[in-house]
Amino acid sequence: MTRDSTDGPRAASPHPGWPDSPSRDALQLIAEGVTQVAGFGVAAISVARDDGKLEVMAVAGSDAARDQLTGTRTPVDRLQRELAKADDWGLLRFVPHERLDPEVGENWGWVPDIEPLDEPDAWHPMDLLIAMLYDDQGVLRGTMSIDLPIDGRRPGEEQRRVLNQYAEQAGRAVVTALEREGLATRVRLAEAARKIVRSASTGAGFSVDRILAESRIALADGFQARGMWIQTFDEDGLGTGAIYASDGTQIELPDELVGIAESAARRAWSLQRVEVVARDLAFGPTITAAQGERVLAFLDAIGIGSILFAPLGAGPECLGNLVLTRLPGAPEWSEVEGAAALDIGHDLGRAILNARAFEREHQLVQELQALDTYKSQLISTVSHELKNPLTAIVGHLEILETAADLDTRTLGSLAAMDRGAQRLARVIDDLLLLSKVGDPNNPVIAAPIDLHRVVDEVVDLTSVAAGAKHLTITVEAPVGPVVALGDAEELTRVCANLVSNAVKYTPEGRSVRITLGHLGHDVVLACTDEGIGVSAVDQKNLFNEFFRSSNPEAVAQPGTGLGLAIVSRIVERHSGRIEVCSELGKGSTFRVFLPAAT
Ligand code: ADP
Repeated sequence: MTRDSTDGPRAASPHPGWPDSPSRDALQLIAEGVTQVAGFGVAAISVARDDGKLEVMAVAGSDAARDQLTGTRTPVDRLQRELAKADDWGLLRFVPHERLDPEVGENWGWVPDIEPLDEPDAWHPMDLLIAMLYDDQGVLRGTMSIDLPIDGRRPGEEQRRVLNQYAEQAGRAVVTALEREGLATRVRLAEAARKIVRSASTGAGFSVDRILAESRIALADGFQARGMWIQTFDEDGLGTGAIYASDGTQIELPDELVGIAESAARRAWSLQRVEVVARDLAFGPTITAAQGERVLAFLDAIGIGSILFAPLGAGPECLGNLVLTRLPGAPEWSEVEGAAALDIGHDLGRAILNARAFEREHQLVQELQALDTYKSQLISTVSHELKNPLTAIVGHLEILETAADLDTRTLGSLAAMDRGAQRLARVIDDLLLLSKVGDPNNPVIAAPIDLHRVVDEVVDLTSVAAGAKHLTITVEAPVGPVVALGDAEELTRVCANLVSNAVKYTPEGRSVRITLGHLGHDVVLACTDEGIGVSAVDQKNLFNEFFRSSNPEAVAQPGTGLGLAIVSRIVERHSGRIEVCSELGKGSTFRVFLPAAT
């Protein structure tokens, strides 16, 4: 009888790498040796699986037996119960049919269809002969079942000796096959982990803890690790950066170990190697024996058997380390796993640099924003402080100007003071408005605004200035309202600034044209003049605060350089945009696009 047959349906092998593998071939050869040389009709070799079952991997001698047995799985403990009654023939165990439990007897296994000889040592179809295949640590790694002796007799001394030799070979082949299989699986898993870490670490702005959160399961599974942590070195290079555990929490390592890990990482990075620390393993070149002992003592204390230690870095710089842990008794770390971990060290190193650059940028933006807020507050405070005394000055000037006994010279001085005060008042008003429309705490309260009415109002207000220069102002607009969504006062200011600039920067006798229209979801307000124009260089700075053109013709006109800055901020906070099209000496068109009210 050949054991190693399942009591249930045959499961698909979970080891698809096996069917044509060299490992299976080696087992098959040994099984065939038993049938061809040792004089048996059937030999079957099984390997022990993690789930406590024996899986038949190779069957030689009988096609019927091969078809029935290959791939079947049998619980190890069931076989061992039966072998309790066996004779001990070295590696071989023999249970004569008469000792078999009739209960379990025929309902599993392969039973040859033969008539036993009429001899005292005749082989009976229910006889069980099996070799137990142990590894060097005494762990059962497989079995070899032998059946159907050609001579029809139970094996004698010489045959047992030959069979024991085959059993030894089979034992070694099974161990090798299992190791090879384990290695192939680990290569696959480590490679999968590497891919996941790589995809998690590409892309700007990722922080290390986010990369870890995304790849820690893949890392632990891929390396069949019990746990893991990552230490990052601060930019000061003192190794005081955070240590992230695989569950996402920050962990504390004794200072001494942090120091050892840091120096080991730097050496490992310069040597481009990983380090394995485990009992019964010589320490590598990145740590001293004393340091190694300290690490081992720590691992003992936390119940860890071994670690794979990989440096993280980019270019010449070592940036931290990755530590993967395994429990005592877990498989040793393979070279392939070491290589994959080193690759991951490169990917994570790049990711750390990216994260740092992003962090620096973010910080800079925040600082600039703080500076901008401070500047706005300063402008607003100073403007308010100037406004009150200026109002007093203007008031007193008016009183003085009405006094009866002033001579012409004094009146001239008072008029000059009044012009200066008016100019100051305009600057202060512009500054106050600029800070108001730039204040994020003062959002636009939007309502439908008919720009037609806004334009008419502005044309009315500028008519005196335009008339003084004999300018013609025309308005082209569709019949009916052109409605934008926004704040009436602010949109009036936009229109007024553009039209007053057109009037201001256009020589006498020419014309200014205002057009209104729709474009997609926007309404468009354009102001075209035949004025002095703006050079391409100046156009770039037109909307900056206090910018005034370098053109002497423009400088000759009074102005603060705040009007267009105010326009652009208002347009921006209305979710609109402004375009300028201008040529020096020919004229300019300013075009404002604002969301239309539906
Ligand atoms: P201000 O007119 O008070 O100087 P603005 O911010 O309104 O400030 O304009 C900034 C500068 O842009 C002006 O100094 C002027 O040189 C130029 N500019 C603005 N509008 C026009 C225009 N329509 N034609 C020519 N130059 C203009």
